[in-house]
Amino acid sequence: MNAPYNPGLLEHLQLRYAQGPVKMLIGGDWVEAASGETFETLNPSTGKLLANVAAAGDADIDRAVAAARAAFEGPWSKVKPDERTRLLLKLADLIEANAEELALLETLDVGRPIQFSRMIDVQGAIGQLRYNAGWASKIAGETAEISAPGEWFSYVLREPVGVCAQIVPWNFPMVMAVGKLAPALAAGCTVVLKPAEQTPLSTLRLGELILEAGFPAGVVNIVSGLGRTAGAALASHPGINKISFTGSTVTGKAIIEASKSNFARVQLELGGKSPTYIFADADLSKAIPAAAMGIFFNAGQVCAAGSRLFVHEKVADQVLEGVANMARGMKVGQTLDASTMIGPLVSATQLERVTGYIQSGRDEGASVLVGGEAISGEGYEGGYFVQPTVLLETKPDMRVRKEEIFGPVLCAMRFGDDDDVDALAGRGNETEFGLSASIYTSNITTAHKLARRLKAGTIRINGSGGVDPALPLGGFKASGWGRENGKAGIEAYTELKAVSVAL
Ligand code: ADP
Repeated sequence: MNAPYNPGLLEHLQLRYAQGPVKMLIGGDWVEAASGETFETLNPSTGKLLANVAAAGDADIDRAVAAARAAFEGPWSKVKPDERTRLLLKLADLIEANAEELALLETLDVGRPIQFSRMIDVQGAIGQLRYNAGWASKIAGETAEISAPGEWFSYVLREPVGVCAQIVPWNFPMVMAVGKLAPALAAGCTVVLKPAEQTPLSTLRLGELILEAGFPAGVVNIVSGLGRTAGAALASHPGINKISFTGSTVTGKAIIEASKSNFARVQLELGGKSPTYIFADADLSKAIPAAAMGIFFNAGQVCAAGSRLFVHEKVADQVLEGVANMARGMKVGQTLDASTMIGPLVSATQLERVTGYIQSGRDEGASVLVGGEAISGEGYEGGYFVQPTVLLETKPDMRVRKEEIFGPVLCAMRFGDDDDVDALAGRGNETEFGLSASIYTSNITTAHKLARRLKAGTIRINGSGGVDPALPLGGFKASGWGRENGKAGIEAYTELKAVSVAL
């Protein structure tokens, strides 16, 4: 994963994007926007232009939804489950065959260090496809005994929900696009997918591989465009049956509003402010790096980032010094350098937002243990870099403690023997979010009691790691609605139909 990047491949991509705007995929064709409009996607490491990309408007969204509908009612409805499995596996193989190019695209567009693009984006996407491919032939209804008078045969069908709108954010574009596409396609749905305007390139390249794999035209449509225009038109389109959205809580609310017009089934994966607990009996050799990577990985631009640390006072000095040392030691820099651990934030807007939060923490009385500044100067020209940061002495009502910063900023708090599991869970649950939590302790009772009391969709005990396609992913409270991944994730792309026959 630490191999140097391939300069020939970089040149190939640069040449390709110099040839003109990247088109979008509608009904099996690569097309410009009907309006001819485009938008720019930039390299966050340098602030320079990577490519111009077609900017979908209402007319393009109409066409894409119509293409998805035609495929859903037509050719795709006749494709048997085992053939859907085969197509999904074929796509996984094609991603594997083009792994280095896709990793490079993600690195250029998102600003993720190349080693992580290879591991998370490419391997994650392949994993999602291979996991979900198997589900295509395992989706099943059931029979039921009903209590009405007479003799009845009742059964429940599980049908594909229909045309699905999928709206993806900029932090993990390809793996999230695939994580949404794979279960939808396995279940027999068709899709109109919109990548984020900051990071459309890997998803559009994925569209080429989808056609190469042999998916019929219109089964997957990829519309690039701005959130407030293309995204809003897609979310409120009368022709969609379901919307799956990952992104900010504010936009999540807009999606809910939009669904009032079309009654689309809504699945939302939104923000987080996830706690990490380190108890005095924890294995600190695991807990310290996990706490640091939990917030600094991907420059903190992770919905499940462990942005609040609760550490027992007996080990607090050691843990905080360990996390601060990691913050000082991790290489922040250019993403094509295989030794870089932390890249830039995705955009100038995001840099402003994160540094604004750090300043608001200072203004409200927090102190800075490490970091706290944007990075500029030689090697960082034009990029959106910020130091990994740890804030101390925060209070629950401060913005840095309760709002999602989406940057490498950790709020660290101490607790003592007086804080029992209920009190600790209460502190973990004190924000509006409930996406995930991590617990480090060698006491299994403490670990399981706390896991039960935390209002969070994902809990890790004594270990860290990313998303696994087999485990349901989603949040409590303002962190979202419904679940992706696992059996629940597949079933969320189906509708139930009860059929009763009087015998
Ligand atoms: P951010 O504010 O960090 O860009 P968003 O949640 O707004 O995060 O973006 C996530 C995705 O939602 C992107 O693909 C974006 O284009 C899209 N989006 C933004 N606004 C809307 C909207 N009003 N309706 C539908 N999609 C939107």
